[in-house]
Amino acid sequence: MDASGTCASVRSQLGVYLTGSILPADRAVVVRHLATCPACRSELADLAGLPGLLRRPACQAAAEVPGLDRAPSANPASGSAPMPGSAPMPGGGPMPGGGPAPGGVQLSRLMSSVARRRRRRRWLLALAAAVLVVVAGTGWALRLAQPPGSGTRTVTTVLETDKVGGVTVLTDAEGYTLYWFSPDNPTMSACVASCARTWPPVTAPAVGGAGVTGTLGAIARPDGSLQATWDGHPLYTTTADKLPGQAKGDGVWDSGGQWHEVVVTGSAPSSGRA
Ligand SMILES: [Zn+2]
Repeated sequence: MDASGTCASVRSQLGVYLTGSILPADRAVVVRHLATCPACRSELADLAGLPGLLRRPACQAAAEVPGLDRAPSANPASGSAPMPGSAPMPGGGPMPGGGPAPGGVQLSRLMSSVARRRRRRRWLLALAAAVLVVVAGTGWALRLAQPPGSGTRTVTTVLETDKVGGVTVLTDAEGYTLYWFSPDNPTMSACVASCARTWPPVTAPAVGGAGVTGTLGAIARPDGSLQATWDGHPLYTTTADKLPGQAKGDGVWDSGGQWHEVVVTGSAPSSGRA
């Protein structure tokens, strides 16, 4: 990929970026571009829904991708103009009626712009699915050996659980306690700038190790990076914890809200229960 990171080159990389299998040099270009390009961030947000497909066998997910499409109303990025006659046209073909009435010309322009967007989305989805199939042939085979629902989501961040102060909490691979932030919501982190330096976001995609219950996901941060989520909560560590096994961030009020350790219910490896 060229170092300037044009929209086209960046978008061709979003699939592998999302799966974590992107080359480090390309990743830097993608992150830099996403930080300044809302359009590409929007594409990334669309693609971020894909990890849901990964929990199913890759071949099945791939088979489903060509059928994926958006309802005409679910296309907020296509502009503020409401779509007149948003009922699907047979075969997505040209406008009925030959007369190029001024409104008709505008409408058909709009329709073809929408069709272009859809074609590009479909192409991106197919690309991402192809990447997944390739990955499935290698390391992803591991995932298939696990019981459904315990699902591996990614190849980058591994999450674990540990007992801290008698409570089973979610941790990163090094054993550092993970936190959620009250002002966050399932699609957006409210912790940016200096907050994110004190409370570093956990990068996505994330995989749950043994004992990790709950649903892992990802959101796109304002800088274009991906942050892991657990049951809809964007995840963080804190610089207040100097060693694994600490939870100094729990209950703390900082950066406009309260911080909580992520308490995992169910069995953890250290609990000794089955
Ligand atoms: Zn762009």
